[in-house]
Amino acid sequence: MGQISRNDMAGILNSGDPQVLQELLQAADKCRRENAGEKVYLRGLIEFSNYCDRNCFYCGLRKNNRRLERYRLGKDEIIKLAMLAFASGYHSICLQSGESDDPLEVDFLVEVVREIKELSREADEHALGLGITLSVGELEYRQYERLWEAGAHRYLLRIESSVPELFESIHPPSQRLEQRIECLRALKDIGYQTGTGIMIGLPGQTVEHLLRELEFFRREDIDMLGLGPYIPHHAAPLSKVKAGPLDPYLTTLKILALCRLTMPDINMVASTALQSIAPEGLRMGLKAGANIVMPVLTPEIVRDNYYLYEQKQYKGAEELAAEISSCGYVLGLWEWGDPLHYKKTNP
Ligand code: SAH
Ligand code: SF4
Repeated sequence: MGQISRNDMAGILNSGDPQVLQELLQAADKCRRENAGEKVYLRGLIEFSNYCDRNCFYCGLRKNNRRLERYRLGKDEIIKLAMLAFASGYHSICLQSGESDDPLEVDFLVEVVREIKELSREADEHALGLGITLSVGELEYRQYERLWEAGAHRYLLRIESSVPELFESIHPPSQRLEQRIECLRALKDIGYQTGTGIMIGLPGQTVEHLLRELEFFRREDIDMLGLGPYIPHHAAPLSKVKAGPLDPYLTTLKILALCRLTMPDINMVASTALQSIAPEGLRMGLKAGANIVMPVLTPEIVRDNYYLYEQKQYKGAEELAAEISSCGYVLGLWEWGDPLHYKKTNP
């Protein structure tokens, strides 16, 4: 795997020595500057609905969480937010929601994507318009294809864990790992820039599991990675299971760095969960090799109801921009910032 052996990776992941972490981050930062450059690209995140038909054991949006106030943004509101993002120089957005069984939701999203694409193309001298990432869970092949035809070109579907026993310990039996893998392959087949990822520090997750996750990312030849620490939510059953053995924050930094070193040309997100779990999460995530940040554009009036985990923190766009430049990176505005990996594999 890359130039680091499996044994070396295990040694790094098992080590509690701050010097080991320091050296790892330095190596990842060097590798990132050489291969992915010093730019950090923004994806304006619009969490357009918190309705969900699934029951993931870790997530506050799960269907059985009856206490959560549900919301769904209207088409015009989503388009307005997207166009505002475009005018401010974010040339990519990500539309995210819970997962729905209702095919009408896909019809709705197809319309939204098509209109955003048309309007932003008209407003763009290069006629490229906004880059649109979707993250709405598992759909059928034809549904992914319709969204692609409407103008979406990236998709984020975290595998959550590719290790069968771990996946099964955090999902009800109706949610199947094979199905999720099939979805990832469908997305790649259609032509999407495909992103996946996992949660780190899940109860019972071990170093051996993480080494297998790293192998999975490489095997699936992914273009983008969105991973972050697991943070419990009081209304989700996994919060009742004993934590550990891994430290979610430090292990996330190590995994980001190992991913940058072994997959130098992919795009990697410094996730909101990473920013939420520690005050220096964003900066450390960038130093570990992340080159994407997703400022939350969801309107404040509903934002708190997109309650995936406790203590979700939001940083304003200006604060994010200041932090990004203060650690020596350059904001990549007015461009899509596609993963070099995708460009190489889809010339
Ligand atoms: N419903 C879609 C997208 C929205 S959920 C889907 O599941 O793919 C987005 C991500 O939030 C999930 O992929 C999961 O990794 C993350 N998430 C959910 N609950 C979390 C928790 N308790 N801690 C950390 N991340 C969580
Ligand atoms: Fe729904 Fe996604 Fe949360 Fe699972 S992780 S309950 S699919 S929003």
